[in-house]
Amino acid sequence: MTAASAAAAAYIVAALLFILSLAGLSKHETAKPGNVFGIAGMAIALIATVGLVVQDISGTSLLLLVVAVLIGAAIGLWRARVVEMTGIPELIALLHSFVGLAAVLVGWNGYLEVEAGGDPSAALTGSEAGIHSGEVAVGVFIGAVTFTGSIVAYLKLAAKIKSNPLMLPGRNWLNLGALLAFVILTVVFVIEPTLPVLAVLTVLALALGWHLVASIGGGDMPVVVSMLNSYSGWAAAAAGFLLSNDLLIITGALVGSSGAYLSYIMCKAMNRSFISVIAGGFGNEGSAASGDVDYGEHTEISAEDAAELLREADSVVITPGYGMAVAQAQGAVAELTRKLTDRGVQVRFGIHPVAGRLPGHMNVLLAEAKVPYDVVLEMDEINDDLAATSVVLVIGANDTVNPSASEDPGSPIAGMPVLRVWEAERVVVFKRSMNTGYAGVQNPLFFRDNSRMLFGDARERVEDILRSL
Ligand code: NDP
Repeated sequence: MTAASAAAAAYIVAALLFILSLAGLSKHETAKPGNVFGIAGMAIALIATVGLVVQDISGTSLLLLVVAVLIGAAIGLWRARVVEMTGIPELIALLHSFVGLAAVLVGWNGYLEVEAGGDPSAALTGSEAGIHSGEVAVGVFIGAVTFTGSIVAYLKLAAKIKSNPLMLPGRNWLNLGALLAFVILTVVFVIEPTLPVLAVLTVLALALGWHLVASIGGGDMPVVVSMLNSYSGWAAAAAGFLLSNDLLIITGALVGSSGAYLSYIMCKAMNRSFISVIAGGFGNEGSAASGDVDYGEHTEISAEDAAELLREADSVVITPGYGMAVAQAQGAVAELTRKLTDRGVQVRFGIHPVAGRLPGHMNVLLAEAKVPYDVVLEMDEINDDLAATSVVLVIGANDTVNPSASEDPGSPIAGMPVLRVWEAERVVVFKRSMNTGYAGVQNPLFFRDNSRMLFGDARERVEDILRSL
């Protein structure tokens, strides 16, 4: 068996493992084996690729390759070990930007070797040359959009820039104009592949990626993260075509299509149009944060009084949000669930599809704290039961329980389905201040007659309640 056919066989096994991994990751119960399949697939893919490359390169290049892999692996291991659970979304955004950058570099390398004549043995003629130039243009474009788009997503998620949408005048026309210019530049590049055309195309794509994500508001960021995930997959697939690497094409297509499907699910869950979000907030005209409305006074509650409410309750629903992740309150919340259940109180969780900062964030935290899966319900499964619930504990959630999403058509989060916690008999909101959530929108829930604010770190307050119970 030649090295090439051994690598091809290994690629098929790796691709199958990636498909099994995706299938496993779609359910709590099978997520762990899903992860193992993914790791095994990636290990096989890496070994096969390095094994194949080793055949054709010099000792110095091999040394460079090994050093680069070791440095990359060391940085990756270190980051994965030190990252906080709350920092994972921005880490993912940063990793997507690397995929985009890699696709840009592969595209430019392809141009320098083939079109610019850097490697005479790689020279192409006729339709093959045209196809190669098309691949370079498309690969560089998708890669550059993914690169800058992911950097803006990283900056927004890490709160290094404001999450409010950038509202340039005529921004939809700017995006459409950039797309049209890309098509024209690609045609020109295929006919006459010159450096200036590729340079202009690259700068245009970098600017478009930046603008697409900058013009999306905080509330729609979950869709952007999954959308960039999808773009990074297509960028990898484009690089696969240039490198004639079948596994990169398959893996890129898997990531691209599953990311697109996840974006579609998130859009449906948030009542947003898929096209409007992938086109950079198309149709979001004119909504701005409404922070200055006077909703009246809020009422505070102490941990002891909150414990009293829980003692008298028949049914309790807990709706966790990003603040539970920040406070690392999941262990205390799980303990509270056990205590109340032992006292005969029905305790269930209501999980909003975009609670936290990444898809499934709350489910991961609750699973880690060993909360049984059967009491953890999706928003649609719990919403109709909230009116008959004695107490809802809103633990570090804000945008996902904001009534203005359904009651105020002018709100930036208007139309997004939310957990209707205000329908319950009593609502206790755990947060540290009256500050807004990620979307920067004030929450009228905090001022309702049946709402009580329990200020402080969510974990400390839940522990206070546990002591009082
Ligand atoms: P929010 O971001 O709306 O609100 C979180 C709340 O937690 C804040 O109001 C904050 O208030 C409170 N908080 C923070 N730290 C603590 C602490 N230590 N103890 C107690 N409270 C704390 O959270 P939600 O989960 O309700 O909504 C998620 C938002 O994030 C949505 O807008 C969503 O679109 C967006 N998003 C979601 C992504 C996803 O994939 N799930 C990805 C990107 C964005 P205070 O400061 O007063 O304590």
